Amino acid sequence: MSHSPFDTSKPLPVADGDSAEFWKALNEGVFLLQHCEDCGDVQYYQQAMCRICLSENVSRKPSSGKGVIYSYSVVHRAPGPAFKADVPYAVLLVQLDEGPKMISRLVESDLSLVDFDLPVEWVGVEVAEGVTLPCFRFAKS
Ligand SMILES: [Zn+2]
Repeated sequence: MSHSPFDTSKPLPVADGDSAEFWKALNEGVFLLQHCEDCGDVQYYQQAMCRICLSENVSRKPSSGKGVIYSYSVVHRAPGPAFKADVPYAVLLVQLDEGPKMISRLVESDLSLVDFDLPVEWVGVEVAEGVTLPCFRFAKS
């Protein structure tokens, strides 16, 4: 599928062999991270091997879904027609409690309060039939 500037549908993730289980679990309300059984590294991006030691001995475990805002950017100008109705919104770089950082989006939260180091928790947002994205909201204290 291509995305011309006139295409108002948002790009959706495409599940492949390495990520199919990850996307399926999100639909079921579980946010999986990959744990290397050899070096202990935890990674978010689903790959066939550990990004640190290249071991293929990786397993998926549910994440706590908790982390903090490592960095963020508030988007006021939509990157394309499909995002026009969404602005302003915040893109987050979340530092997960388990270690990895991931890019996501702030939802269900007061945009004016977004800041560095704020605790956040993941929430699944169904963006299309059978497609759930891992987004984040301010953690309930
Ligand atoms: Zn490893």
